[in-house]
Amino acid sequence: MRFPLRLAEPPVPPGFTGTRLTACNLCEAICGLELTITNGEVSSIRGNPDDPLSRGYICPKGVALADTYEDPDRLRRPLVRRGEDWTETDWDVALDLVADRLAETIERHGRDSVGVYLGNPNVHALGSATHGLPFVKALGTRNRFSATTVDQAPAQLVAWQLFGHQLLIPVPDLDRTSYFLVLGANPMASNGSLMTAPDFPKRARAIQDRGGRIVVLDPRRTETAKIADEHHFVRPGSDVVVLLAMLHTLVDEGLARPPAYVDGIDRLRRLVAPFTPGLAERISGLPVEDLRRITREFCAADGAAAYGRVGVSTTGFGTLSHWAIACLNLLSGHVDRPGGVMFPDPAVDVRRFVGRGHFDRYRSRVRGLPEYAGELPAAAMREEIETRGDRQIRAFVTVAGNPVLSTPDGRGLAEALDALDFMVAIDFYLNETTRHADVILPPTTALERDHYDLVFHALAIRNTARFSPAVFAKPADSRHDWEIFRDLTLRLTQRLQRKASLKTRLVRRARVSTSPTTQLAVLLRLGRKVSIRQLRTHPEGVDLGPLKPVLPERLQTADHRVDLVPDLLVGDLDRLRLWLEGRSGTGSEARSDGALVLIGRRHKQDNNSWFHNTTRLTRGKPRHQLLMHPSDLAARRIDDGSLVEVTSRVGSVRVEVAATADIMPGVVSLPHGYGHQLDGTRLRNAAKVPGVSINDLTDPELLDLSGNAALNGVPVTVSEAGDPHRAVHQAE
Ligand code: SF4
Repeated sequence: MRFPLRLAEPPVPPGFTGTRLTACNLCEAICGLELTITNGEVSSIRGNPDDPLSRGYICPKGVALADTYEDPDRLRRPLVRRGEDWTETDWDVALDLVADRLAETIERHGRDSVGVYLGNPNVHALGSATHGLPFVKALGTRNRFSATTVDQAPAQLVAWQLFGHQLLIPVPDLDRTSYFLVLGANPMASNGSLMTAPDFPKRARAIQDRGGRIVVLDPRRTETAKIADEHHFVRPGSDVVVLLAMLHTLVDEGLARPPAYVDGIDRLRRLVAPFTPGLAERISGLPVEDLRRITREFCAADGAAAYGRVGVSTTGFGTLSHWAIACLNLLSGHVDRPGGVMFPDPAVDVRRFVGRGHFDRYRSRVRGLPEYAGELPAAAMREEIETRGDRQIRAFVTVAGNPVLSTPDGRGLAEALDALDFMVAIDFYLNETTRHADVILPPTTALERDHYDLVFHALAIRNTARFSPAVFAKPADSRHDWEIFRDLTLRLTQRLQRKASLKTRLVRRARVSTSPTTQLAVLLRLGRKVSIRQLRTHPEGVDLGPLKPVLPERLQTADHRVDLVPDLLVGDLDRLRLWLEGRSGTGSEARSDGALVLIGRRHKQDNNSWFHNTTRLTRGKPRHQLLMHPSDLAARRIDDGSLVEVTSRVGSVRVEVAATADIMPGVVSLPHGYGHQLDGTRLRNAAKVPGVSINDLTDPELLDLSGNAALNGVPVTVSEAGDPHRAVHQAE
C-alpha cells in the first residue's frame, strides 16, 4: 500500500457547474449524497444510488444540507461581546482573548474551574473527533459534560460492562433479521441510532416481505409502530419491567440457548424471578399473554434482534433496560449470528482510540454524582456553575451544543450561564446557549471540510467506508473546527507551560498540527481494509460486506467471556425495587399511577435544536403541539387546540394541545429541540417556529445509574390556559 501524496479532491472552482458526491453528516444514518452545483451554488441534492450503505436514500434534512452553508444568519467570523452588542473580530484577537481568559481562570482557580460541554454534532465531524479531545485534555478539567448523558450513556455503560468496551455495541443485522423487536425507538423517523440504517423504510419492508415481523413497544404509536406487524402501548419508564419479565419468561420456559462464552445464567435466573409477566402487566399495561407470546416468538425466530433507543435510554432505568435487552439477545442465542445483533468491523476501529470505559473514579462536587468515562452528568451543569466553593465552574466552553434547549431545566441553566466569569462557544449560530457567551468562534460547515464518519461506520448494519472531500473551499478568513481546536490547544499549552513537560508539549503540538485527513490516512492504513487512495477514487463509498461473527475473539473483557450479571449493573435492581414500591428518593421519577407523564418525540424534519433556521424544514403543518389522548382531554374538559399549561416540578410552559389516539392514555408528548427564543439570538427563521422547550419541564434530579438524564416519564399536570393564539413561553 502506498502512502497517498494527495489527500483530498480539490474543492469546486468558482462558477463550477456539475455534480459532486458527498455525505450527509446530520444524523447517524450517514447517507451518501449527490449535489448538483450550478454556477458555484448547490441547485439540488439527491441520495446517491451508488452508495453501498444508503443506496440512494435521502430524508428531508439531507435535501436541506446546503441551507446551513448558505444561511445568512450563520456566523462566519468570530464575535466578541461588548455589553449587549456583538463585534466581529480578527481570529487571532479572538483566539488570544479566549486563551488568556481560560488560562487566567485555571491559574487562579484550578483546572476544574473551567467546564466543557460537547454537543451532539461533535461526533458527526472528523475534525472534532481528531482534535476536540486534545483541546479538552489541554484544559485538564474534570468538569466535562456532553450530549452523551442526555442520550446514550446507558448503552455505552452496558457495552463496557458486558463486552469490555463502551463502543463495542451490537447492532441489529437488519438486512437478514426475521424478527425485529423495537422498544422506545422510531427508526422510520431517525433511520436508526446506535444502528446506522439509512433507508430504514425499505429495509423494514424487506423484513416483512421475507416473512419476518416487526414488533414495537412504545407509549406512542410512532411512524415505526404504524408500519409494524404489532404495536403495544407500554407506559413510559416501564420498559425495564417488561424486559425483565421477558427474561423471566425465557428462563422459566427453558428457552435459553446462550453461547458458550456467557457466564452468570443461574444468578440471572434468581435476579429476574420476582419480575413476573403479571407484574409487568400492572406496571406497563402490556398483557401477560402478549408478553409471553412475544418472548416465545422472539426466541424461536431464525435471527431476531431486540433494539432499544432514546425512549429506553432516557428513563430512570436506562442502564437496566439496556442490560436486559443485551441479556435477551444473548440468552436467546441471537448475538453474533446473522439476522441477530452483530458487531460491525469498520475500516477504522474507533475503539482503538477511545477508552474502554470506567465509572465512579471521581464524583461531581455538589451532588456527588459519579463520573462515567470521564464525564459528569449534563444534568449537574447548573449546580456546578452556581454553587460557590472550590472547583466551582467559573468559565465555560460549549462546542456545537445548545444545552439550554437540550438538557434538563434548560431555563435554569441559561440563568447560570449568565453568572459565569467567562464563556466561549465554538459554534456557527448565535442561539439560545451561545448568546450567553463572551466570544463565539464559528467553524466552517460540513460542505467546506473533508469528512469521514469515524463513529457511525462502527455502528452500521453493513461494513462500508467512505471519504468525502470538501465540496467548497473555505473562505480565506475562516477556520475549520480542527484549526480552532489546534489554535486554542497550542495557545493554552503555551500559557500553561509551567504545568506541562517539554515532551508533552512537543507531542501535543505534533498531534494537533496534523490535519484530520492526514490522521485518517494513517488510521486507515493501520486498519488494513481500505486505503484513503481507494476511498478518494470511490467517493460513493466502498462496500466491505455484511456483518460477520467476531466473538469471542473481539470481546475486550479480561477473560474474553461475557459476565451477564456484573455487580455494577445488577446492583441497580435495588433502586428499581424501591421505585416499584413507590418509594421516593430513588433518583428516578416517582411512580405516579394515574398521573400524566411527559415523553419527548422527534420528527423526520427536525435535527435536534439546530435545523429550524431553514425555511425548507419548517414549512407545512405545525408539529410543536403537546400530544394528548382524547380521553385525558375530556377528563380535564380541555378542547383540542386549546392553549394549555403544562407543569412539572421544575417549571411550566404554555403550548397548544392536539388530541390524538396515537398516544397512550396518561401520557403527553412534546417534541425535542423546540422553544427558540427571539431575544439575543440570530435565528430569524427559527425564532418564528412556534413551540416550547420540553427541557423547561424535565428534571435534573431524575437520573439513571449512568448519570443519563431521565427525560422521558416526567410527571406533569396539564390544565386549560386560554386562547391558543396567545401561546407563548411563560418566561417571555
Ligand atoms: S437520514 Fe437524512 S439527515 Fe440522516 S444522514 Fe440521511 S439524509 Fe442526512
